[in-house]
Amino acid sequence: MHPLFKSLASFVLRQPRLAAFVRRQRQVRWVSLCFHRFAGPANAGPGEDLVAIDDSLQWLRRCGFVFADLESTVRAALQGRFPDRPTVVVTIDDGFADLIPALPVFGRHGCPVSVFLATDFLDRRAPLWWDQLQLLLAEAPGAVRLQEVAGISWSARWDSAEERVRQGEVLIEMIKRRPEPARLTVIDALAGIVGAAPFSSETTGYAPLRWDDVRALEREGARFGPHTHTHPILAALDHAQAKYEVDTSWARVREEVRQPLSIFAYPDGTPWSFRQRDCDLVRAAGLEAAVTMDGRWALPAAPPVDPFRLGRIGYQARIADLQASVLRLAVPGYGDPAKP
Ligand SMILES: [Zn+2]
Repeated sequence: MHPLFKSLASFVLRQPRLAAFVRRQRQVRWVSLCFHRFAGPANAGPGEDLVAIDDSLQWLRRCGFVFADLESTVRAALQGRFPDRPTVVVTIDDGFADLIPALPVFGRHGCPVSVFLATDFLDRRAPLWWDQLQLLLAEAPGAVRLQEVAGISWSARWDSAEERVRQGEVLIEMIKRRPEPARLTVIDALAGIVGAAPFSSETTGYAPLRWDDVRALEREGARFGPHTHTHPILAALDHAQAKYEVDTSWARVREEVRQPLSIFAYPDGTPWSFRQRDCDLVRAAGLEAAVTMDGRWALPAAPPVDPFRLGRIGYQARIADLQASVLRLAVPGYGDPAKP
């Protein structure tokens, strides 16, 4: 761990006034944290460092936060019962295999996890579309030019892997909000340009969980819910496509998992990425609730709660950033000059 990070973490952990302040709070809210990928041999891309996560969870406990599971916290809130202590709920999106070595870190702190699965990713075992795009660019000889492919023109040149990944992220942002066929056309065009063979089912570093892994992790206490089938942006789909994505992922989770988590996670989850229609489709599928990535708010400490728009925030590895985001959302009055 970077020495600066280490000294910052230990400084924050030694703040007794801060911990006492959090424990004194009565008007608390609960905050859902969202993770995606974890660093380790099973991950060829960026991922959260497990030592930093261990420190973060320790810091949250020292501050007086308790960890709770998403389902029981949501069910209680919908019945008007809210946590009486500052509470953090942990969720993990997509279903990459790299979460297997990460789960014991959460387990050590008594922190339950809820995982949202893009079910076609587990069924087909091909990389998710944005990883496919980056893998194709990695095959290219230092430059790629797309001209009017599904209405998109993009060209990039790079002389390092970092620059290639950065350019790839620009293209991912450009096509993320486009309808599904346009996105697939761009990926097919890239595959044609670089002459890539179809992706192997076990592309190293991008593999999903196996359904057997899911059932084994479930026996250890993890819960699994739907996150669409092919991970499209729902707002970009027509009604039939969006319904297919919601219904199929929920059906696959119920087929494979003993105790399916009846809560949905919208892909991307930011406010532009889904519509009221999609909330209605999730409700019509018989799911109890859905989580977004709308970081402007956490769960309110009192009704009304819209069960199909439950906010989450992305995990931040730096304790100072985590402190700012979690405490600001969870503890009204935090950050006032008169308070710690
Ligand atoms: Zn996702």
